[in-house]
Amino acid sequence: MTEKQRQELLEQLLEKQKTGKLTPADRYAIPPQEMPNQDSVERRSNVHEVATGYTETQARLEAMRCLQCKNAPCIKGCPVRIRIRDFIAAIAEGDFKKSLSIIKENSLLPAVCGRVCPQEVQCQQTCTVGLKFKDTDKAVSIGRLERFVADLDKNQDAVPAVAADTGMKVAIIGSGPGGIVAAADTRKAGHDVTVFEAFHKPGGVMVYGIPEFRLPKAIVQNEIDVLTKMGVKIVCNFIVGRTRTIEQLIKEDGFDAVYIGVGAGLPRFMGIDGESLIGVYSANEYLTRANLMKAYKFGKGADTPIAMAKKVAVVGGGNVAMDSARTAVRLGAEKVYLIYRRSENEMPARMEEVHHARQEGIEFHLLQSPKRIIADKDSRVIAVECLKYELGEPDSSGRRRPVPIEGSEFQIEVDTVIIAIGNIANPLIRQTTPGLEFNKWGNIIVDENCKTSLEGVYAGGDIVLGAATVILAMGQGRIAAAAMNKYLAEKKTKAQS
Ligand SMILES: Cc1cc2nc3c(=O)[nH]c(=O)nc-3n(C[C@H](O)[C@H](O)[C@H](O)COP(=O)(O)OP(=O)(O)OC[C@H]3O[C@@H](n4cnc5c(N)ncnc54)[C@H](O)[C@@H]3O)c2cc1C
Ligand code: SF4
Repeated sequence: MTEKQRQELLEQLLEKQKTGKLTPADRYAIPPQEMPNQDSVERRSNVHEVATGYTETQARLEAMRCLQCKNAPCIKGCPVRIRIRDFIAAIAEGDFKKSLSIIKENSLLPAVCGRVCPQEVQCQQTCTVGLKFKDTDKAVSIGRLERFVADLDKNQDAVPAVAADTGMKVAIIGSGPGGIVAAADTRKAGHDVTVFEAFHKPGGVMVYGIPEFRLPKAIVQNEIDVLTKMGVKIVCNFIVGRTRTIEQLIKEDGFDAVYIGVGAGLPRFMGIDGESLIGVYSANEYLTRANLMKAYKFGKGADTPIAMAKKVAVVGGGNVAMDSARTAVRLGAEKVYLIYRRSENEMPARMEEVHHARQEGIEFHLLQSPKRIIADKDSRVIAVECLKYELGEPDSSGRRRPVPIEGSEFQIEVDTVIIAIGNIANPLIRQTTPGLEFNKWGNIIVDENCKTSLEGVYAGGDIVLGAATVILAMGQGRIAAAAMNKYLAEKKTKAQS
């Protein structure tokens, strides 16, 4: 459809709406609006954002596909319960400012969430339109609409009001999405807030993990700048558990409450031969070098450039694996193989990312898994030996278990292997914080208010949930901040009485 055809269709629909003649059948007949994307060949050699965003006409047409269901099942699918039906209605009316203000009631980072939230397994999965067509892809594109209004916001630098100083000090450990929300919400209540971040740049996975071509770093930096303008102090290169412990922050440095939002940054390996060879990376290291250390600048302004790879094997089937494979393409690899031990149906990665990865020429090796990594005499990777698999009965995750086929070994010639099979909690906080309770996976145990076993200490995001999502981390940051504000108000009253 051309932009002119879209405009004509929109005008006809608006006219029908004005006269009360717009029917659900008319809405079902509106074609789902495709997201405009950068050309798939061109984008292989740059790191600019792949999806370029809806035009205004596209956004209003997509919004008109929404049936304005009375029970709005989409809202139940949203982890932070955004009033989806209402923000979409405002877009259809052309009132984008109102739309954004509705989203902001529940979500602090709509430009981020509109881009990276897995809507197809959340709000869009329960959308009536998608159910009618028996296809989540044909549901109303809630995420794209969220992104559209967030990107129009001319007021992105607006600094939220901050209450008068309470004299209470809050430490936020980790500057990921959970930490950012917890810092903003506690600062709004008038507390003196300091964010401690281990890396030299704040933003958590949004900066060091998710690549620029999916989430431009300027968007995250903007949120960090707003925090700073609100008076939040951000201290980088500060590793809690090494530079200072939580106990020291509370007992010696005078912090009245602490939020732990350190994520799940410890990469898992497969435990196969060859994982310590030259040319094997964890996805975390690879992506951090590429994103945070700007390896894509190929030595010009990059502090830790990455070795040039010609043939890359990425092991895993999640978003992290897709990000690694697509980053390898942009760093100049001629061949990128994605090796996953189940079939595409079981892949945890977002459908859109899988689709983009295929478009960018990544070769999928499904129902295969590495058995060992092989090196030359200088310990440099030259190949990966894989086994073929078939699917057996479903396991505890509900997905069919991959069963190795005996004697099916074969080799793929590569010079780089990136292991992207998941992350777990880093044990540093556990090792250095007596009295803090953890579960058997090393995640911090919290109650419904995100309070830990220690007085005044709260936690949220991946360190509590295991590797999860941006929106869930933000939701926990918000719950924890509300509980911290209550705790600090009570603490202050007690101190005064
Ligand atoms: C490559 C990749 C792609 C992803 N893609 C998506 C996606 O598309 N959509 C989505 O919703 N989710 C995605 N996720 C998951 C999502 O990014 C995380 O769930 C989310 O960022 C977790 O937020 P968090 O607040 O727990 O902190 P994190 O973002 O994990 O940040 C934690 C911060 O704490 C810092 N830190 C750690 N230890 C210490 C310490 N001891 N002292 C001080 N600071 C410390 C870290 O340096 C880091 O900056 C992705 C994850 C990865 C790795
Ligand atoms: S479920 Fe879908 S159609 Fe219904 S209100 Fe939500 S977005 Fe609109």
